[in-house]
Amino acid sequence: MQHLTVLGSTGSIGTSTLDVVARHPDRFRVVALTANSQVDLLFKQCEQFKPDYAVLLDEAAAAGLRRCLKDAGISTEVLCGVEALEQVSVLPEVDAVMAAIVGAAGLRPTLAAAQAGKKILLANKETLVTAGNVFMEAVRASGSALLPIDSEHNAIFQSLPHDYRGDMKRSGVSKILLTASGGPFRNTPLAELHDVTPEQACAHPNWSMGRKISVDSATMMNKGLEVIEAHWLFNASADDIQVVVHPQSVIHSLVQYVDGSVLAQLGNPDMRTPIAYGLSWPERIDAGVVPLDLFKVATMNFVAPDFERFPCLSLAYQALRAAGTAPAILNAANEVAVDAFLNRRIAFLDIPRVIEAVLDELPVNAVTCLEDVIGADAEARSAAQQQIGNLAGARETSVPAPARRAAPLHP
Ligand code: NAD
Ligand code: MG
Repeated sequence: MQHLTVLGSTGSIGTSTLDVVARHPDRFRVVALTANSQVDLLFKQCEQFKPDYAVLLDEAAAAGLRRCLKDAGISTEVLCGVEALEQVSVLPEVDAVMAAIVGAAGLRPTLAAAQAGKKILLANKETLVTAGNVFMEAVRASGSALLPIDSEHNAIFQSLPHDYRGDMKRSGVSKILLTASGGPFRNTPLAELHDVTPEQACAHPNWSMGRKISVDSATMMNKGLEVIEAHWLFNASADDIQVVVHPQSVIHSLVQYVDGSVLAQLGNPDMRTPIAYGLSWPERIDAGVVPLDLFKVATMNFVAPDFERFPCLSLAYQALRAAGTAPAILNAANEVAVDAFLNRRIAFLDIPRVIEAVLDELPVNAVTCLEDVIGADAEARSAAQQQIGNLAGARETSVPAPARRAAPLHP
């Protein structure tokens, strides 16, 4: 029996995780569930999984959940605040932690779980992007098992030799091929990109995901963050990682070997596959996923990424090469810019502008401890807010933007 904490249980990855868990009551027991503020869904999850603890960030939401649980006669203890996220990640009875909080907010509890030697199911890519060396050092020191849940990294993990120890040369690996769908705007005329709406950006052609990662997929920042994630997970340099646009999202990534072999993992685009593999590794369990029908897929295409259309991808490669605090700055500026876009404060094409300006403005320092990352993150957030304010000010004094398009822009 594996005892689990699910950080971010009400999100897209969190609910998919609980879907897999519910299929195997003989294998998994949920010890703790956490969410930002979604009382209703967290209550339903508590009713179904009867965890020992439920954590909400918001005090008023926590009080609401406590009342609902009491009325229903459920004995789950409700905790509140960021410290509680760490607390439920290091409980002695917990074997594995699903890290599925979105954004840099997931860093501290995920790091705490690694320091405590828990098995980590890592969906929160921002942990590796912002604090890759600190996190990987914690994993090494405690001997944690680290299972990548991001579908591409899970595919690479499955395609590498089972005893891979982070030495590509010794393992005969010549390249990591990271596939990308290209998102909803792969073929949208460039002139129309300025006016795309949050709804259009969140309408991913193949995957159903949270809003932040959906926008990241539309700008291809998601792939940029994943290049940095792959760097830390597999000890691969920026030159060792090739992004391949594959619009069908059937091949989830590939590993190229020196003898000419290329190994890949394929499947329908459903996050329950990598989640189930992470949960049951090295075994395999039913994930409730529809089997891949190759006759239905029929055709698979591959093209090189368009760095002009997707400047966020270039910015991420640049940040990886600059190293130190650069990826944390990139990530924080991106989180602020995406939030401003989702709240209609800036246009879609402003997202890379804000990030580039912040990367140009701030110095890059070495990362030796978590505080270095947290300092760079805070500085980048305030610089990004400043840039957004400047952009909004400039827009108010210029010609009004053209009317927004109503129809969704699908490839
Ligand atoms: P989501 O927005 O659907 O869910 C986020 C979860 O985190 C929710 O439970 C929310 O309550 C919680 N949360 C949000 N802000 C928080 C905060 N400040 N403190 C504590 N909890 C907070 O996100 P998602 O799409 O499930 O993505 C989760 C993570 O997994 C992200 O890092 C994303 O990049 C990664 N990921 C997601 C997918 C996917 O298919 N959705 C695929 C690969 C990787
Ligand atoms: Mg991914």
